[in-house]
Amino acid sequence: MTNVTRPFNFSAGPAMLPKPVLEQALAEMINWHSSGMAVMEMSHRSPEFKLIAEQAQRNLRDVLAIPDNYKVLFLQGGASTQFSMIPMNLLRGSKEADYFNTGMWSKKAIAEAKRYCKVNIPVDSTDNKFTTVAEIDNLNPNAAYVHYTPNETIHGLEFHNIPEVGDVPLVADMSSTLLSRPIDISKYGLIYAGAQKNIGSAGLTLVIIREDLVGHAMPNTPTMLNYKTHVDSDSMYNTPPTYSWYIAGLVFKWIKNTGGLIEMGKRNKRKADILYATIDNSEFYNNPVAPAYRSWMNVPFILKNPELDKIFLTEAKEASLLTLSGHRSIGGMRASIYNAMPEEGVQALIDFMIDFEKRKG
Ligand SMILES: *Cc1c(COP(=O)(O)O)cnc(C)c1O
Repeated sequence: MTNVTRPFNFSAGPAMLPKPVLEQALAEMINWHSSGMAVMEMSHRSPEFKLIAEQAQRNLRDVLAIPDNYKVLFLQGGASTQFSMIPMNLLRGSKEADYFNTGMWSKKAIAEAKRYCKVNIPVDSTDNKFTTVAEIDNLNPNAAYVHYTPNETIHGLEFHNIPEVGDVPLVADMSSTLLSRPIDISKYGLIYAGAQKNIGSAGLTLVIIREDLVGHAMPNTPTMLNYKTHVDSDSMYNTPPTYSWYIAGLVFKWIKNTGGLIEMGKRNKRKADILYATIDNSEFYNNPVAPAYRSWMNVPFILKNPELDKIFLTEAKEASLLTLSGHRSIGGMRASIYNAMPEEGVQALIDFMIDFEKRKG
């Protein structure tokens, strides 16, 4: 089983998982650690699952160096549910919040927040078609929090520095960038991420929240949408996504054993650098994002002649390079190169792109 060669899958999510993680999951599938049970068959209240859950949290805290005054929650509902939980829990009596608008996912978060409060937009990249980020110059002093999307998965736009927002809690949708490099958690009030990009399998949503922001939900907040419910019950108020929690735990351990986030960051930067260089050195491929904001995780590009898109995708698939078509809303191509994408995968894509250009350019 270990020597099966797998194609390189550039899916934006659900995305590739590290091969050692899949192999361990396979080895443990039917009988986890001599328990006689598959992880999927365990009660979430059993001592076995408790161990899995606690180890996962410990390894995540280690890998991200999460300070003690932050809680880690393992929830369901995807990042999209956080779009409503955030205003419901963090407005704390205020009626205003700041949201950066830097792409499709920002927009969705904004649309949901508008149901609960007045949204001020201190940074709007609509006019440059989400290819860069202007200076932040009008933060609202009355905002209960500032929300932004550090990596826009669809447009391939990423912040490489944490925005300066003073004492207002900074909230970040890190769905497609968490664990891609070291980050300073203490700069944030709340971080959330769906697992299916860079963390594990779909069905799990991670929330990292500073303690003082817990316990201020709006009066009519449903129990399941109140962070306090999940903090008070160690994310076991109801049945959590046990298998996804377990897979995420294997990924955290894999990161730890592979050199942690410093090593992930180095690898990810190298992968992104060689792919963008290939695009920039060609007359045939183009990426419109300003170099300072190019994503290390999602690299969208277009072909000079869009009539070749279909052929590019077909031939790429034949060359074992999967899921390269761009998001349905913007077309073109997109290579998602999260932690699990090996450097050989990016090199194989580059070799294919150069050869394709030679033949069709
Ligand atoms: C994928 C993604 C989402 C949506 O996640 P779901 O878990 O499907 O709700 C939100 N934000 C960003 C940045 C994403 O990449």
